[in-house]
Amino acid sequence: MFPFKKTQNRGQADQYYISDHHEPIIQPDIFAQVQELIKQRGEEFGNTEFHTYPLSLKIQCENCGKTYRRREINLRIYWVCRQHDFDSRRCPCKEISEEKLYDAFIRSYNKLLLNYKEILIPLQTSLHKLKLEKFTGHIRIIAIHKEIAQLREQSHVLANLLTKGFISEEKYHEQNSELTQKIKRKQKDLKMLTKSGDDDLLEQITMLIEWFEGHDKMLIGFDEKAFEFMVDKIIVIKQEKFEIHMIGSLKFTEPIADEK
Ligand SMILES: [Zn+2]
Repeated sequence: MFPFKKTQNRGQADQYYISDHHEPIIQPDIFAQVQELIKQRGEEFGNTEFHTYPLSLKIQCENCGKTYRRREINLRIYWVCRQHDFDSRRCPCKEISEEKLYDAFIRSYNKLLLNYKEILIPLQTSLHKLKLEKFTGHIRIIAIHKEIAQLREQSHVLANLLTKGFISEEKYHEQNSELTQKIKRKQKDLKMLTKSGDDDLLEQITMLIEWFEGHDKMLIGFDEKAFEFMVDKIIVIKQEKFEIHMIGSLKFTEPIADEK
């Protein structure tokens, strides 16, 4: 269950993680979080395809939107747009070797590892700040609800005064429309304050930071656990580049290297 074991050999040369083996690779709490995330992701896919390989359902064709499927050609593993695979007239996007996809991930991973302190930590700080403001916002929401209730009460009193003949109809309409305007403004404020927050984003950024705090070595081979944990999808754009979408709304663009 720890990622420094030998990765599954799928025909490539043996790959090993470089890690100190005297310390736990993943802290227990983050390990549990990772497992949970992997489980959730698995469930999201439903029954459409059995989640066999790390790249299954994660590679997407920019041209037709379909996911890629695995193909073995001359003992090499490729991934191909399933639309193209079904009928090449429907989508021109050809197969791509698994190696290229792995390499692109490794490059992005290493970039993030080298820069996460500059990128992720300031992001985490601002998200924390936002969360705090949201909490203050919550107190403000309660206050606004109270203010709206009071304005409605005033409007009710005003209507009573009109019925009893204490104020003129003209005065009633003038004051009531003022109250209605105030209520509308308060409701607008409420809408602004209750907009959905960035809690998920903060959680994902924090998980990434914790991951890199526990994994300070550059990848030299494909890391299945890291891939499953952090990659949402890879979009293949015109046989030219990959767009690697990671958790925390991170996106990396990697050129598709020439065939070795
Ligand atoms: Zn396609």
